[in-house]
Amino acid sequence: MSSSLYILHEVFGYEAFRGPQADIVEHVSAGGDALVLMPTGGGKSLCYQIPAIARQRAGCGITVVVSPLIALMHDQVGALREAGVAAAFLNSTLDWPQTLKVEQQTAEGELTLLYAAPERVMTERFLALLDGLHARGQLALLAIDEAHCVSQWGHDFRPEYRQLALLAERYAGVPRIALTATADALTRADILEGLQLQAARLFISSFDRPNIRYHVEEKKEPLAQLLRFIAQEHAHEAGIVYCQSRRRVEEMARALADAGVQALPYHAGMPSELRQAHQDRFLREDGIVMVATIAFGMGIDKPDVRFVAHVDMPRNIEGYYQETGRAGRDGLAADAWMIYGLQDVVNQRRMIDEGEAAEEFKAVLRGKLDALLALAEATDCRRQRLLAYFGETSGPCGNCDNCLHPPAVWDGTDAARKLLSTIYRVHQASGLSFGMGHLMDIVRGQASDKVRQFGHEGLSTFGLGAAYSERQLRAVLRQLLALGAAEVRRVVLDSGHAFDTLTLGAQARSLLRGEQQVLLRQSSAAARGKSRSRRA
Ligand code: ADP
Ligand code: ZN
Repeated sequence: MSSSLYILHEVFGYEAFRGPQADIVEHVSAGGDALVLMPTGGGKSLCYQIPAIARQRAGCGITVVVSPLIALMHDQVGALREAGVAAAFLNSTLDWPQTLKVEQQTAEGELTLLYAAPERVMTERFLALLDGLHARGQLALLAIDEAHCVSQWGHDFRPEYRQLALLAERYAGVPRIALTATADALTRADILEGLQLQAARLFISSFDRPNIRYHVEEKKEPLAQLLRFIAQEHAHEAGIVYCQSRRRVEEMARALADAGVQALPYHAGMPSELRQAHQDRFLREDGIVMVATIAFGMGIDKPDVRFVAHVDMPRNIEGYYQETGRAGRDGLAADAWMIYGLQDVVNQRRMIDEGEAAEEFKAVLRGKLDALLALAEATDCRRQRLLAYFGETSGPCGNCDNCLHPPAVWDGTDAARKLLSTIYRVHQASGLSFGMGHLMDIVRGQASDKVRQFGHEGLSTFGLGAAYSERQLRAVLRQLLALGAAEVRRVVLDSGHAFDTLTLGAQARSLLRGEQQVLLRQSSAAARGKSRSRRA
């Protein structure tokens, strides 16, 4: 039996390695550098813990684990100690005497693993400690967890991670392993460069989570939709409900509780004791629904989360994948359920547009948002699209809403062209851009006060789309935004009043020329509306 398999049995009590664990452990134990991309719940921790133990036994000294989350450090160190492994952490929760003690244990070679936050690692004091170990050949391995935090493109960017590249130079020859569950091509490239791991071996696991069923629907009445979903599929089961803002977290948690669901709020604006108390209850009790912003979840290892619901659209596919990945870590059936609407798209766009970032950066963020929107609008297999985003090819999965209930589609190409020409004509006529409501009024032939004020009832496109319902046009607009044929622009008036307008996007041309088709999901309500009007 190899020594790593022996450690797996003896220390951790597990039968066998999972997936690529064995290869990773062998490679790193032998002193190689590695970048490990593995979905949440895949078993990343053992990939550095076993090499740490193996290398300590071989006389190479201590492994330093850089981890961004204090809660995660505590859990891992607790579990390791229980398994009889000498582990400790250095972070702001320790008082001075405790800190000195851990530093002393480190210096004297009593530890196998030392966990520390990135900002701690980069202090002169900590580096001096590492220098001492390195000089004596007692720095066995550097492990960098949640490595995607180095990427500015991601949603967990931590500036201190950028400095970790210094470790590569300062401790040349000490093997390094970086691990993450986020892995689109851009993030991957960022990690390799940002951590100076270009020569590291890549270990990429499949990102498929076959037990998770994906489901996305149009947002109509968020609370009622969520309550129905919970009552029908997951009554009294543990779940996480992600919301866009703190205020919405509060409102949603209260509304769920009023409806008899055991729901607790969690966001970064709450007092930390209360936040911690809610997290503890979520972990310990059965059937708690955590209503949270994305501040909640990283490092949470609760195996029986049966559903993750998004009542607002996340920022990008990585975020969506990571958040939904917290469901079903025990491998049993779980649901990833999301509702989204046009307003979500507009809000996300605005946050990008109004951000401080450089234009080049904003373009990347917009592209990422569009990719998520395309996933949400998709009428074919969602898993296939999700995996394709991470560079994996697969067939239809049979376990997502679109596979299980192939949606009826309608051809929205004509409606799309009418909307786009209206945006164009309105701008041509007045030199101004207008909001969605106004544009839809024109297309549908509704002579509102505002339409008359601007004389827009005289436009050639006025009333051309009278046959379409407002809901259908909204769906077409979402698709146009996803395709990049229309764009949201925020206009700020001198009075300080601001509103969102629509302009033509780069892809508008091919649609107007009839080179591209717009296929839309036929929502059941729209379908009903149509058949009724046909009968009338
Ligand atoms: P990740 O960090 O990739 O999200 P973890 O390292 O927390 O995943 O592992 C997820 C769960 O799977 C943990 O409860 C862990 O103990 C368990 N696990 C990992 N590897 C194995 C294995 N080879 N055999 C059995 N259980 C494992
Ligand atoms: Zn599918």
